[in-house]
Amino acid sequence: EDNTFEDIFGKFKLDINMEKVIYLETWTSTEQRIQVDDKFVKVLFAPFKNEDERPDGVIAVIQDITEHVKLDNMQKELVADVSHELKTPLSSIKVLSESILLQKDVPRETYIEFLEDITSEIDRMTEIINDLLTLVKLDQKEIPITFTEIELNQLIIDITKRMKPLADSKKIELNYILLKEKVLADIDKTKFVLAISNLVENAIKYTAEKGFITITVDSDHQNVFLSVSDTGIGIAEEEINKIFERFYRVDKTRNRETGGTGLGLSITHSTILMHNGSIKVSSKEQEGTTFLVCIPLRQT
Ligand code: ADP
Repeated sequence: EDNTFEDIFGKFKLDINMEKVIYLETWTSTEQRIQVDDKFVKVLFAPFKNEDERPDGVIAVIQDITEHVKLDNMQKELVADVSHELKTPLSSIKVLSESILLQKDVPRETYIEFLEDITSEIDRMTEIINDLLTLVKLDQKEIPITFTEIELNQLIIDITKRMKPLADSKKIELNYILLKEKVLADIDKTKFVLAISNLVENAIKYTAEKGFITITVDSDHQNVFLSVSDTGIGIAEEEINKIFERFYRVDKTRNRETGGTGLGLSITHSTILMHNGSIKVSSKEQEGTTFLVCIPLRQT
């Protein structure tokens, strides 16, 4: 009772004061948004009258809308990122098709070369869109995920088998170190395999020829630890915190050649969180990178 309206709301530089609310013409309410440190707050002011129908005071309803604002900003960022990412292949396609249209008597080889370039740009856009759809589906928590009991040593053997041809094409040695005992966890197999495959695919992509990649399975009483280590180019310390962000790529020009979308690790990160797990990365430039995934063991 010792605090006046001004004491409470004065410090937020609101475009409002007691008189303004009380004499709101239509006797309705007014809404203001304020930022307090890193929080966003919505305040709804409504006047009320006494028995004689005279203004008697103001009710202020204060609501923390930080999460809402964050989501809103993320959505805006995503739209901006997607537009930006699709713009580059689209501009290339436009330039290529215009060159064909403008030139008379284009030699057949040039014609084919241009069409191949157009096709690869379209493939790139398709890759971006597919990755985005995966990510959006993962983020929409209402889409059910089906957990089943899976043995993880075998899962790693299967993933390695599938990735081997890719590793072979760069003469990279792909090995695993497994546990003797069974390692059981409840996972959504399709999504989890995609998440781990992304890590192995990256390890192959960012490791030079004749390098080494090792996948290990380990566990304590509560968790299972899966790690993917490579002897690749590594990630600079200042970049490590950013690599799970959408569309983040350490070296954009090099990535254009290797065909990354910058979405793979975001997908992996979302998937691991969905499994109540965590993912960590340690890396040294020119030496290599290790991604460590931890998820709960099946509790018997
Ligand atoms: P991309 O499709 O570009 O590979 P990701 O989201 O999978 O996108 O990875 C983001 C960035 O993190 C990559 O562009 C790359 O710069 C870096 N990165 C990921 N994995 C590794 C790795 N094993 N070694 C070095 N850099 C990596």
